[in-house]
Amino acid sequence: MIVLKSTNEIALMRQAGKIVANVLAELKERVRPGVSLLELDQLADALIRKQGAVPSFKGYPSNDPKVPPFPASICASVNDEIVHGIPSARRLKEGELLKVDVGACYKGYHGDSAVTLPVGAVSAEACRLIEVTQACLADAIAAAVAGRRTGDIGAAIQRRAESNGFSVVREYTSHGVGRELHEGFSMLNVGKEGQGMLLRPGLTIAIEPMINAGKYGTKVKRDGWTVATIDGKLSAHFEHTVAITEGEPEVLTRQE
Ligand code: MG
Ligand code: MG
Repeated sequence: MIVLKSTNEIALMRQAGKIVANVLAELKERVRPGVSLLELDQLADALIRKQGAVPSFKGYPSNDPKVPPFPASICASVNDEIVHGIPSARRLKEGELLKVDVGACYKGYHGDSAVTLPVGAVSAEACRLIEVTQACLADAIAAAVAGRRTGDIGAAIQRRAESNGFSVVREYTSHGVGRELHEGFSMLNVGKEGQGMLLRPGLTIAIEPMINAGKYGTKVKRDGWTVATIDGKLSAHFEHTVAITEGEPEVLTRQE
């Protein structure tokens, strides 16, 4: 079911979004060679709770009944890992690419946002992948206007990624967000203009392009959660929770 939010609900989602943005801003400061993914997870968990919210991802059930629920408060995915990486004691190394995804539930409403961070100095290709993926998200947000359609958002992402020689992951999507972390609908990050669901004021979407340096195919690692590129090449991921309004889209997870 597609859920449109009231002004009051958007206000609560703005607070949830702010909490997530604060956590990501703090994590950015901490990411450097030698830091473990578990340390980042523990820090994020404490920061989410200190702000009166609950981590959205901890205990999130898998679609596969054989896979235990997600055990951590952030997703930390490194290099060829795309999304849903489980934070481990593994320490980050110079030149790696970290994708960190944070979700927080505040007064029953979720905020969901992710960034890709370079660990120390990274390759020129990795830098370009980060920049293009960030531009994909910016283009997508610019297209998230009432009266347009989900296909316009997908098309904007696909155009930016492919014109730069990168590919867009198909097997994981953007999604509605609100009282549920994944609410109402999912939306491919590729598409055709004028196609798909009509965007209406009050719709809240977690827009999250996942862009691969090589092929767009994915595989799930043995832990049942971590999604990686099929060819072992790098991937980047940026995400914001966005509200469709009567005017410009409002980014609810924007960092100051
Ligand atoms: Mg997310
Ligand atoms: Mg999401």
